[in-house]
Amino acid sequence: MNGSLNQPLSGNDMPRFGGIATMMRLPYARTASGLDACFVGVPLDIGTSNRSGTRFGPRQIRAESVLLRPYNMATRAAPFDSLRVADVGDIATNPYNLLKSVDAIERGISDILSHGCKPLSLGGDHTMTLPILRAMAKKHGPLGLIHIDAHADINDTMFGEEIAHGTPFRRAVEEGLINARRTVQIGLRGTGYAADDFDWSRQQGFKVYQADALWHRSLVPLMDEVRVHMGSGPVYITFDIDSLDPSFAQGTGTPEIGGLTSMQALEIVRGCWGLDIVGCDLVEVSPPFDTSGNTALTAANLLFELLCILPGVERRN
Ligand code: MN
Ligand code: MN
Repeated sequence: MNGSLNQPLSGNDMPRFGGIATMMRLPYARTASGLDACFVGVPLDIGTSNRSGTRFGPRQIRAESVLLRPYNMATRAAPFDSLRVADVGDIATNPYNLLKSVDAIERGISDILSHGCKPLSLGGDHTMTLPILRAMAKKHGPLGLIHIDAHADINDTMFGEEIAHGTPFRRAVEEGLINARRTVQIGLRGTGYAADDFDWSRQQGFKVYQADALWHRSLVPLMDEVRVHMGSGPVYITFDIDSLDPSFAQGTGTPEIGGLTSMQALEIVRGCWGLDIVGCDLVEVSPPFDTSGNTALTAANLLFELLCILPGVERRN
């Protein structure tokens, strides 16, 4: 093991309920300089359309992440023996101005990317993925996108506004941030404004896997298909926690019944291993509606799983 790499603070050195609540009890770093990957919070909820509260998401995900240990017992991934990782704190969103918040997020992510560091962002409502993709596309060109969500988030406008948590992927196509032929949406369901709402995605060339077609199934074969479809170019993963069934993740603003299971979420993330992943986010955790903490706990675990599939992470025999 490289002694210069950061390790999460062990529960045997400081009790898990003690210490500073960084993501996974990693060191806090003021900038991404010298890091291979970082966790960054985006406390944002003024882009939400229904129940808010995701401004508290990053803090609660960090709080629930204290139980996470450094090794993945299913995949044997050893991310902290492979990459230098830290928590770089939160991007200063503007709670009175969504457009200024969007610009601040793009600047914050651009700064992380300028250090050659891969961001894993803790949300925050899904509006945040638009400025993240703007920063990412400046560095990498149009990205492949794996989008896990109950919702397609491709509305043209919401309440007349072009920037909101239900519009980021329409804007991303219009702005050329993502390659529609390398975009996959998994878990879509619920009720629509019109019966053909999801057809816009398909018309762009997205692959769309609606939740009802995934019920009662292992998603390992699906992810074999997704990996082939995504090929070798850069891929961004955006994971909306409301893709999970409310029985697994009730603490979110726009829940939809009939969703993915926690086990399917793990199959999806683990099934992305081998792709050229350049960044990830986990969005829409709303602690005021997360009475058990299970939603934030699930989000923390999925962020660890996302870290475990970054290129360069070794797996132990
Ligand atoms: Mn979403
Ligand atoms: Mn959603």
